[in-house]
Amino acid sequence: MSKVRVRFAPSPTGYLHVGNARTALFNWLFARQKKGVFILRVEDTDIERSRPEYYERLLSDLRWLGLDWDEGPDVGGAYGPYLQSQRMDLYHRYGQQLLAERKAYYCFCSPEELEIARQGALAAGKMPIYSGRCRNISPEEAAARVARGEKAAVRLRTPNQGEIVFNDLVRGNLCFQLEVIGDPILIRSNGMPAYNYAVVIDDHLMAVTHVIRGEDHISNTPRQILVYQALGWEAPQFAHLAMVMGEDNTRLSKRHGATSVDQFAQDGFLPEALFNYLALLGWSPPEGQEVLEPEELVKLFDLTRVSRSAAIFDYQKLYWLNRQHLKRLSSREKLEKALPFLRQAGLLPEKLTADHQAWLERALEALVEGVDKLSDLAAQFELFFTFRLDQMDEEAQAILKEESAKKVIQALGEEIDQQGRLNFNDFAAIVQRVRQKTGLKGRALFHPIRVALTGQTSGLELDKFIPLIEEGATLSWPRPMLSCQARLNLAQEWLR
Ligand code: GLU
Repeated sequence: MSKVRVRFAPSPTGYLHVGNARTALFNWLFARQKKGVFILRVEDTDIERSRPEYYERLLSDLRWLGLDWDEGPDVGGAYGPYLQSQRMDLYHRYGQQLLAERKAYYCFCSPEELEIARQGALAAGKMPIYSGRCRNISPEEAAARVARGEKAAVRLRTPNQGEIVFNDLVRGNLCFQLEVIGDPILIRSNGMPAYNYAVVIDDHLMAVTHVIRGEDHISNTPRQILVYQALGWEAPQFAHLAMVMGEDNTRLSKRHGATSVDQFAQDGFLPEALFNYLALLGWSPPEGQEVLEPEELVKLFDLTRVSRSAAIFDYQKLYWLNRQHLKRLSSREKLEKALPFLRQAGLLPEKLTADHQAWLERALEALVEGVDKLSDLAAQFELFFTFRLDQMDEEAQAILKEESAKKVIQALGEEIDQQGRLNFNDFAAIVQRVRQKTGLKGRALFHPIRVALTGQTSGLELDKFIPLIEEGATLSWPRPMLSCQARLNLAQEWLR
């Protein structure tokens, strides 16, 4: 069998949607597994909606996700150019060939006329199919009209009876009646190729063996097959992936949450987590493994196990996978990933000393399990710097005001005063003595301690928190971090 060649063919008309990213990923996984070629082709023929900044973003988002391509507009290749806007001569050359063979014809109908016909058909409850009005204009007359400067599109002459059948690798056999397919436009009157035409020219000339794309293109496929037939070319294999939906079963959109790869990157998802999640969107490995690295996914991926039913985008599962992948990172890597988010929140000094780094690594190890995404870290870090007893909620205030709490705080204050800087063992011993002194235990003992040291009723376990703030208090930060002692002094002041 010939070498597998697949392509991802986005239009640079917006940010990369996760649905499209999943299409790119499935193509990539398939290519890498089959030791084939993954091509990036950019379909930028929609001059009104294509933008250079989207093109740049597209490439950087795909790279961020961990995808690379063997051929493409930036890396070149033997089948280029890979930007459709640079392939116009090819579309015109084959257009001329089809016209000469009378497999295509010039259509002089104006967009207004076509629109009126379309509305008429819809109003009469019929499918809006092109009437074929220009089909029988003689080639000589048509050529003369074009030579006079009359605007004309090029249409494919299709049989109006019969059917087109193809075997979809995901959906099985699919059959379309030609009656409901009018003569599709190949080249618009402005000279731009139509999608259904350009895609065929490109897929054929780029020797694409498998077209893996979204199910929204299923109804285009018979039209494309008609173009293959007219040109006497063999069509590639098709695999149409079910759409990505939100939990309410509508197309995934901003209403559901983040939808662009760029947004997920900004929110602090690890690329390997999004990669892992997208790979499982409509596909699962035979043994149901979930936390997988790209190399493992390449080994396991199987196009025939791709689901036909809609893939529901489950944000909770993505959060879970992100936490799993975060956990797998070394402390150093966690810090590297977290730094931009902490910097952005203004929590870090200009220059980080080795002590800062060591402290941050420890703090991250303690906090990272509790966050879904790195952008949530800043709020967690804030808690080291924020100690506002005047802003305590009612529950916290009530805890501190209890008579027994006052005793605990009094005793704790005396002990800490003698101790100086605490590690957790010192702290545990101190709590033990406070317990003996006050005769209190359990919640009555620990709740006031937590509130007096944090101003909050919940948060990081004290065995992690205490050593961190004691250590952190010795370092310089844009906002000071208070030691246990300083916190207790303030708590006692608050109680007076
Ligand atoms: N430019 C098309 C799209 O983004 C490509 C579809 C295809 O893969 O054929 O939907």
